[in-house]
Amino acid sequence: MSPALRAALLLAVAAVATTGAPVARAAPPAPPEERNPDVTKAELVAWVKALSDDSMEGRESGEAGCDKASQMIAAEFTRLGLRPMGDGGTYFQQFTIPRGMKVLKETSLSAVAADGKETSFKLGEEFVPVDVSGPGDVTAEVVFAGYGVKAPELGYDDYAGVDAKGKVVVVLRHAPAHTSKDSPFSASANMAKHATFQAKADRAVEAGAVALLIVNDPATCSTKEKDDLKAPGGGATGKLPVVQVTWRGAGKRLSDVLGLGLAKRQAQIDGKVAPKSEALVGVRLHVKCALEADVRRVRNVAGLLVPLAPVAVTGEGPVAPSAEPKETVVVGAHYDHVGRGRFGSLANAEGKIHNGADDNASGTSAMIEIAGALVQRRGELSRRVLFLAFSGEELGLLGSKRYVENPLVPLADTVAMLNLDMVGRLDERLYVGGTGTSPIWPETIERIGKESFRTPIQMWPGGKAPSDHESFYARDIPVLFFFTGLHGDYHRPSDDWNTLNADGHLRVARFASLVALDAATRKERPPFTKCDAGGFEVGPYLGVGVDPRADGPYVAHVDDKGPGKRAGVKEGDRLIAWNGAPLPDSNAWNDLLSKAKPGDKVELTVERKAKKLKLTVTLGST
Ligand SMILES: [Zn+2]
Ligand SMILES: [Zn+2]
Repeated sequence: MSPALRAALLLAVAAVATTGAPVARAAPPAPPEERNPDVTKAELVAWVKALSDDSMEGRESGEAGCDKASQMIAAEFTRLGLRPMGDGGTYFQQFTIPRGMKVLKETSLSAVAADGKETSFKLGEEFVPVDVSGPGDVTAEVVFAGYGVKAPELGYDDYAGVDAKGKVVVVLRHAPAHTSKDSPFSASANMAKHATFQAKADRAVEAGAVALLIVNDPATCSTKEKDDLKAPGGGATGKLPVVQVTWRGAGKRLSDVLGLGLAKRQAQIDGKVAPKSEALVGVRLHVKCALEADVRRVRNVAGLLVPLAPVAVTGEGPVAPSAEPKETVVVGAHYDHVGRGRFGSLANAEGKIHNGADDNASGTSAMIEIAGALVQRRGELSRRVLFLAFSGEELGLLGSKRYVENPLVPLADTVAMLNLDMVGRLDERLYVGGTGTSPIWPETIERIGKESFRTPIQMWPGGKAPSDHESFYARDIPVLFFFTGLHGDYHRPSDDWNTLNADGHLRVARFASLVALDAATRKERPPFTKCDAGGFEVGPYLGVGVDPRADGPYVAHVDDKGPGKRAGVKEGDRLIAWNGAPLPDSNAWNDLLSKAKPGDKVELTVERKAKKLKLTVTLGST
């Protein structure tokens, strides 16, 4: 048994075990031998449900749910008999992507009094390194520098008259008398300029400090809620250790050890909005920020379909099959999503699972079904077809960028790349991007569209768009991008399997499989043409997600900085009319929104607490 085959078999066993009983309701479809050779609706729906199941936890790159999805895809590639193209005979092309810095438990903070007595503080409870911190381990004398603010335009400088060079600087959080309207620091612009942790760190670096302690100031942080610590962090680029210290536990104690009388001193500074800095004698601070680069381990899934070489039968028996073709068509889709919304969520719903049914369980399932369909037709193929499921797309096309840097089939032999991203919500038209990247595309799309699709297709010529085909286009490979459009559930927890149009999904997947078949069988290799512009046309953006209820559409969520919020739309509003046109249901809503243009002014009538309100919204762009 070859190592490659053994690895593939082990992988298949592992994958089956992972996708077994516990997620029965999310099981992928039956093995291919029991299945319809064509792309089928039941199988697509089963795949979408499996990939967007809660147990996948929104498939954030590098998290367990995303790995589980990759196992499921690899298991299917095994069943389909695709050749594993990843590392060590597996289907996985592994790589790592940075996740920032991890704070190690060796991180410490202590004050050393003149008599050598040491007082230490508890990491996580009493102090944390903050995101502007760099790594470092220093022990040095101490300078108290007020709020750590230097604002010459306001005639204020906490560093005037003290020498912070080589010292650990202790400062207060916030800015002088910032809650009093008599203080220039009450203006939010001045707070933004002078009171951020970054600004305080920059001033400390300029003054030659070796570490910075930011103590939650007693005046603002006297309650438990306000005496909060930022998320612990740090980065390799931070120039010195920067830690934040709580007031109620650690700050008071620190103030006593340093002999600072911080509460009183703050009152003095705030009273006159005048600095009161001082070098502290006989006491030292030991600050150790132990930070380590943290990485996510992620993986693309890659399986190659090799044509069945024709075996000529002569009088002397079958002749050896001809050599495997080199030319290869790539069919790809990203399988990662935004997880629990730590990044990329438009719903302000961190913690909630963002299942990503349309984005992009729909494209991944279509890619898998296209693989199944082409396996049945491998006798017709004259080129190989590489099926690629990308990770890291939501973090900036990282999986496809990684792939083109380390291709598993030479890019020179890669004749075209077909990308499926959000293909589950076919409405009035299908969008096909990248049609200007080869002169053969418009005719191909039109011909196959007319024969087998029969829904209007809008072609976007450009090869650039915020999805994985762009990485291939950048390497002069003709690309196509299949897309059914943006919608109110995009990057929100509500992007669930039951919002998909299963019939439309089926038709798009079949259409794409025929385009892939055409690319893998046509005589001439598609020539490449450069075409940057117009690969992704923007649509109107309102920033309002809608809940379709029996008595009409209701506002389910409002984006934090969206036009809807600015116009005063609130969650729970019932949407009654759009520029006077009634909105009996969410279809009417979707219809009017999709026909609108960025920049349009729309008068929305909403019902809130039995009262009708008219709100004017200026639409943004997606
Ligand atoms: Zn996507
Ligand atoms: Zn996305």
